Formats: sequence, structure tokens, C-alpha cells
Amino acid sequence: MVKLTNYIGGKKVEPVSGHYLNNFEPATGKVYSLIPDSDHSDVGRAVEAARNAFAAWSSLTNEERAAWLLKLADKIEERLEEFAEAESKDNGKPITLAKTMDIPRAVSNFKFFAYAITQFHSESHHMEGIGLNYTLRQAIGVVGCISPWNLPLYLLTWKIAPALAAGNTVVAKPSEITPYTAYLLSKVCQEINFPAGVLNFVHGLGPKVGEAICAHPDVKAISFTGGTSTGKRIASVAAPMFKKLSLELGGKNPNIIFADCDYDDMLATTVRSSFANQGQICLCGSRIFVERPLYEKFKTDFIAKVSKLQIGDPMDVQTKTGALVSEAHMNKVLSYIELAKTEGGNVIAGGERVFLSGRCSEGWFIKPTVIEGLPYNCRTNQEEIFGPVVTIMPFETEEEVLMYANSTDYGLAATLWTQNLSRAHRMAEKLACGIVWINCWLVRDLRTPFGGVKNSGVGREGGMEALHFFTEAKNICLSY
Ligand code: NDP
Repeated sequence: MVKLTNYIGGKKVEPVSGHYLNNFEPATGKVYSLIPDSDHSDVGRAVEAARNAFAAWSSLTNEERAAWLLKLADKIEERLEEFAEAESKDNGKPITLAKTMDIPRAVSNFKFFAYAITQFHSESHHMEGIGLNYTLRQAIGVVGCISPWNLPLYLLTWKIAPALAAGNTVVAKPSEITPYTAYLLSKVCQEINFPAGVLNFVHGLGPKVGEAICAHPDVKAISFTGGTSTGKRIASVAAPMFKKLSLELGGKNPNIIFADCDYDDMLATTVRSSFANQGQICLCGSRIFVERPLYEKFKTDFIAKVSKLQIGDPMDVQTKTGALVSEAHMNKVLSYIELAKTEGGNVIAGGERVFLSGRCSEGWFIKPTVIEGLPYNCRTNQEEIFGPVVTIMPFETEEEVLMYANSTDYGLAATLWTQNLSRAHRMAEKLACGIVWINCWLVRDLRTPFGGVKNSGVGREGGMEALHFFTEAKNICLSY
């Protein structure tokens, strides 16, 4: 059985405790590798390695750091198959999705920030006749990057790429549930002789490793993506030390469908935006609001399509719906389906665990589930489920659906389907969230600000926002 190691100071390192945790394959429910059960001692070593590497790394030119990031991107691209298989096995996601979305996006993250840093610029403010201000944007030092299990390499690299590009050194903690592709990335770092200590991975449990990173006085900024309650905990640990914080948290995204939409496009996209990655994407639309005249037709056609989604072994290229990431998460999602029933919901598709035959007979699969008949303000419609479960609800007017859409504590993303241009802009302006997709979903331009409002987080990732987060602005004023 493969035993993963930490990656500290350019070397593969066993955890100080000598203890390991089981790593499960969600499609089979079986242990297939072991993960270091690290703690604050391993974090301490990683921070020390990162601190020692900072002066040299931050002194490189932007072009030199960009060249290193491009080397990382090229190596991952070369090994696309290996990375995609590892991601699929570790997470339960369909291999086709890992091959076409997760791993290519990790490559793009490194390329994007490699190019971006060569174009990075800062401001100057001229005071006519008096003097000149100019702003330096300098690397912060050692930063912590903590990422979740749903898009493991994709979201990890979305943080470490801008952090490194800007000249910081990094201590990263991937989710303990999906550590494998980060481990492969550490092997790539060794292979290309990536400068030692610049990027460090400490594997293990959130409350032990993640919290030790947040609490370490030499870690000056934390970029975190994960659940809202974890974000709250991280803020409580890091804020009293005045660390910079970027928190990308949960969501409960509305998908608003007007009767005048491009129907076929909307229907195909809504199947994806509901169930891609088994609904375990923070941007999935889990509350579907349909304008009354279209409601019955939508319901019939949507259920017909959803019922045809092929649930199967994630390693099979035909599979569209894979396994949920863990037994605990599967049980959480199933408990929400039960809750929906007690709240008066009608399960009109799915609603249960699926037992496949053969090697996946003990895997953690749930049928894509559609529920109707629930009020907008019940718990099922207010709390994040983060699985293959959506609710559908009719609405009559713009005002009504805006109230429904904005009624949750979350505010990450929204999707809007209409051919009425004025309505699209009017609604987009009033939706309380960080991202609105009109007549599309998950179309991503890496230059745009990415993040949420309310309990969906603080701060923005992406483009210059990320480079600003990972640098400190210093204003220099020169009097004539
Ligand atoms: P968690 O919040 O459970 O975990 C996220 C990461 O934080 C993991 O690496 C976890 O480690 C670590 N962690 C846990 N406790 C602590 C702690 N006390 N201090 C520091 N780190 C800690 O989220 P999930 O992994 O369950 O991911 C799902 C969540 O992520 C959903 O709520 C989803 O909406 C959100 N998400 C948000 C996105 C966004 O862009 N806004 C994008 C993707 C997901 P470990 O795994 O070992 O517990």
C-alpha cells in the first residue's frame, strides 16, 4: 500500500509522530493508501523551511519565478493521465471530468499566474507641483494555503500559483480526504528540482495541521477554501494575530429560469449545474426556481434527463455520476433527503443510495435527486447540502424570485436564464452574491474576481485580486 509523505524543505518527510491515517477510495469504500497524520511539529518544520527559502525566492525576478511555474505546469500536463486517474480514485469523480476539467485547470492556474506576474504593475499618484507617490507591492513572506476535497488539485493550485508567483513561500495543507494529487505534485517538484522550501505540503487533519498553520506566528496570510463553519474557526484563530485572510466558503446557489429562456441550452446546462461532480462543486445551483408557465414542462423534461445520468465506476469513461467523497458525507446528504421529506418535500427523482455490482459494490453512490413541494425558507432550501440533490420551485414574478434567491445566509453564485436583456441586467444587479452567470454556468475567465458575500466568504481570488491579496502595498511619497 502506498504511504504518502509530507514534502518539507524539498524532501519527502515522514510525519514526526510516525502515525498515518487511512485514505479511502470512495468508489469501493476501501482503504488504498496511507496519509501522514501530521501535527504542529511538522507544521513548525515546514514553516521554518519556508522562512529560510523566502529571501532567495522573493529576490528572483518575476520572469524567473514565472519560468518555475511554467515548469510545474508542463510536468503536470505531461502526466495528465496519471494525475486524472489519481484524482478520480481519491475523490470518486468521473475520470472524464478529472481529465477534462480538474487537471487541465490546475495546469492553467500555474500558466495563468506565471504570465500574470510578468504583467503585474503598481500604481503611482502624482500630486501636481508637490510630489509623487508610488506603490510597491511586495511579497508577504510565508503564507498558508488550505484547500477542500471537492476539486482537490484545481483549488489547491488556484491558491499556491498566485502565492508563489508574487514571491511568497508556501505551507499548504490539502484536504486529508483527497491528498493524492498534492502528493504527486510534490513528486513533480522534486523531479524538476524546484527550489527547496519554497513550496511545502503537510498532510493530515484540519483541526491539527490546518489549525497549526493558522496559529503559527510566522505565517502571515491564510488563503482558505472550505466550509463556512471552518472559515469561522480559522478567522477566530488568525484574526487576533492580524493575518491577512481570504476565505472562500459555502454556498446555496439559486438557478433562476424564466419562461423566455433558450430552453434546450438551459435544460442541458441545468443538468450539469445541478449534478456535475455529484453536486459537490461550490458553484452548483441547488435551488432551481422556474417561472410558473414553464414549470410542468421543465419538471418532466428535467427528470427524464436526470434519470438517464449514468452512475458508475468513476474509472469508466462512460460514467457521468461517480461516488460521493466519503461515507460520512454520503450519510449527511442522505440525512438531508430524509429531512426534506419531513418538511413536506416530494422526491420526484432519485432519493436513495445506489449499490453497484462488481468492484464498486460497497462504494458511496447516491442517485441524482430532485425534490419539489418545499417552501423557499425550509432548512432543505436554506442549508448547504453539497451533494446530488436539488429542489425545484415555481415562481410568478421577478420580485418574488429575487426574495427567494436572496433569502439564504449564503451569497456565492447565481445562474439566470432569460432572453430579456433588461431583465437579465436588472436581476443581476439585485442578486446578493459574488458571481452571476447569465445563460451559462461555470464559464470561467481567470482574470475575473472570484468569491462570495455574506456567509460565503471574505475577499476575492482570481487575476489581480489574488496577486493583491498575496502582496503588501507600500506607498512611497517623494516631495519635490
Ligand atoms: P472543510 O471546511 O471541512 O475543510 C476544508 C479544509 O480545511 C480541509 O483541508 C480541512 O482539513 C481544513 N480544516 C478543517 N478544520 C480546520 C481548522 N480548524 N483549521 C484549519 N483548517 C481546517 O470543507 P470541505 O473539505 O468539507 O469542503 C467542502 C466545503 O468547501 C463546502 O462547504 C463548499 O461549499 C466549500 N467550498 C467553497 C468554495 C468556494 O470557492 N467558495 C469552493 C469549493 C468548496 P480536513 O479535510 O483534514 O478536515
